[in-house]
Amino acid sequence: MARRTCEPVSGVVAEARRVYQETFGGSAGVAVCAPGRVNLIGEHTDYNQGLVLPMALPLVTVMVGSKTSGQSCSVATTAESADEPRKVDFDLPTDTAPLIRVEPAWANYVKGVVQHYRARPLPAFKAVIASNVPLGGGLSSSASLEVAVYTFLQQLCPDDGDKVAKALACQQAEHTHAGMPCGIMDQFVSVLGKEGHALLIDCRSLEASAVPMADPDVVILITNSNVRHSLTGSEYPSRRKQCEKAAAILGKSSLREATVQDLEDAKDRLDSETYRRARHVIEEIERTARAAEALRGGAYQEFGKLMVESHNSLRDLYEVSCPELDALVTAAMDVDGVFGSRMTGGGFGGCTVTLLQAEATERAMKHIEGRYSGCPTFYITTPSEGARVLSV
Ligand code: ADP
Ligand code: MG
Repeated sequence: MARRTCEPVSGVVAEARRVYQETFGGSAGVAVCAPGRVNLIGEHTDYNQGLVLPMALPLVTVMVGSKTSGQSCSVATTAESADEPRKVDFDLPTDTAPLIRVEPAWANYVKGVVQHYRARPLPAFKAVIASNVPLGGGLSSSASLEVAVYTFLQQLCPDDGDKVAKALACQQAEHTHAGMPCGIMDQFVSVLGKEGHALLIDCRSLEASAVPMADPDVVILITNSNVRHSLTGSEYPSRRKQCEKAAAILGKSSLREATVQDLEDAKDRLDSETYRRARHVIEEIERTARAAEALRGGAYQEFGKLMVESHNSLRDLYEVSCPELDALVTAAMDVDGVFGSRMTGGGFGGCTVTLLQAEATERAMKHIEGRYSGCPTFYITTPSEGARVLSV
């Protein structure tokens, strides 16, 4: 059975160091890492100024490297599925020659962060990136890459250390250089994640509170469907637009400001699709607040119930699930000891997250694998620390 408890960070660092030695010779002076994330609840709410409840994962992107003289940077990735070539060279940006979006696609995440980095003058550098976050699996390898690059640059040319501004700069990089109009959740939790805690993030105020989540009797199981439907790229911006349209019709600055009553009052001014999208967002924000409370009180049954409601709403109202994710959730919910399960991330493939009693973990993985027509990958995870500098 394909299952992983998550390879230790030291293994990813060793790989990055080996490739650095092969590519550039010598050893890197700086090593950093930034985690991927799983969102427990609060899906498609971040870009509506709402609440989200993610946690940082033990899966990380590592960046190792050194300063060099001159203006030319050189960055390589060990990722096999990243589009070719795996090593790129580019000049440091200037006021008249900013870094722009060009092939290969993966390097734009790096260049975007260099462009939006919040201190100058940056020195040139050579570096290697290695990761055990699955690429394109909905666990935010992209944000972990951006935040790793930013954390690396902080070692070469320190900024003011403002962590929220750091997350915002990384989000900007994804907007401008990857062309993905993402919310702030992924970068925020990759920067500010806390070991043993989920993070309740208010995406309007950009404040977060840590919710303890270190009960040894409870497990967070991630199941990667290992499918990714091509819809992801086009549907995400279209959902975002629909939400903005709904907020405008309701006369609100965002759907965060709207209640279900506001929506009902305006129902005849909304087409049914826009209504359904807004309904998901407004209720999901409310659900996330309740879920955080449930988690604080150790009310796992209640938390699990809210996870399933979230999934059903994403499937029926927001329409971002797919048969594979639905099948994984249904299979998980068959198992005794499972509190709840839902799709996590943008949708149309990627992963589900399941909250369950620790003693049910083996049983659950076996059952899910038996029921799922594809080949799932499992990760048994614990809430981990945000981006950090590693000793060299
Ligand atoms: P997700 O964030 O859910 O993993 P995305 O599509 O947002 O999926 O981001 C995946 C993309 O990010 C990859 O296709 C690649 O371009 C880039 N990427 C992420 N991690 C790496 C890495 N270690 N090396 C090179 N590119 C990476
Ligand atoms: Mg991403």
